[in-house]
Amino acid sequence: MGFSRGVFLDASNCSDFLKTFDCVLADCDGVLWRGDSAIPNAPKVMQKFAEAGKKLFYVTNNSTKSRAAYLKKFHQLGFPASTENIYGTSTIVAAYLKSINFRKKAYCIGTTGLKDELDAAGIQHVGFGPDVSSHDSHLEMVKDVVLEEDVGAVVVGFDPHFSYLKMLKGATYLNKGETLFLATNTDARFPHGSNGIIMPGTGTFVSAMETVSQRKPLIFGKPNSNMFDAIKSEHGIDPARTIMIGDNCHTDILLGKNCGLRTLLVLTGVTSEDDLDNFRRSKNESHLLPDFFINSLGDLLHLM
Ligand code: PLP
Ligand code: CA
Repeated sequence: MGFSRGVFLDASNCSDFLKTFDCVLADCDGVLWRGDSAIPNAPKVMQKFAEAGKKLFYVTNNSTKSRAAYLKKFHQLGFPASTENIYGTSTIVAAYLKSINFRKKAYCIGTTGLKDELDAAGIQHVGFGPDVSSHDSHLEMVKDVVLEEDVGAVVVGFDPHFSYLKMLKGATYLNKGETLFLATNTDARFPHGSNGIIMPGTGTFVSAMETVSQRKPLIFGKPNSNMFDAIKSEHGIDPARTIMIGDNCHTDILLGKNCGLRTLLVLTGVTSEDDLDNFRRSKNESHLLPDFFINSLGDLLHLM
């Protein structure tokens, strides 16, 4: 793999760049859309990639939607997509449990997306939905706790109802060494908070569960290679001819680096140009530099 310098993509180098890959892995939030609005021209760029015969895959750390729900969103926003090219963390956690023939119940900290994928994979689950106690005192709270029989895994995904009770139950299940500890992803926060509001991400819940259980989870999201491994084994793609497009150097670009892919950063999400400058200057962070960067995926439209 070449040495990455974070080269700005423009009319002088774009046509050579476009010839170097025939498979595109695109992160979703911050690359294709922000929240519920498409990044301007991003759908047209993905369409042009598809028309040029490039294979497209979507890889998102967001565990809150199932493949079916994502497909609807892709089509509503005008992106070319089919179920098989959408890889979210809930989908691959469910596929993993199915692949190991998991027959017990999964205690889940998560939302509908995870629930739907586990249902589709035939995995039994407990724990979804709000779970809070009316007691102020944890000593009172513990008297009412009802635990399930036969829980063999604790799965932590995004859950805006994360609570003391959920932590307590998850930690109790994890106290048995044989209970699997799985986490969808470890994103610290989302870039959507308006008015300076910070939106805690799944990583905050995973950290809490690590602290209380004193165990480390198997993490499925980027930058871990699980999603890429699934795409590679299911679709037989060549890493050397694949580009990873992302907005976050710590997850997307690192995934690309970990898997031997070319990398393109867009500046419409988490990582900024100042961050790139810092990575260039830093001794320990130069591995986070993408091969290329561009202001927005939509800017490629006029360079293709
Ligand atoms: N997890 C949740 C719950 C999110 O809402 C988001 C972004 O909206 C993410 C993770 C990050 O998703 P992506 O990997 O598509 O940037
Ligand atoms: Ca992103």
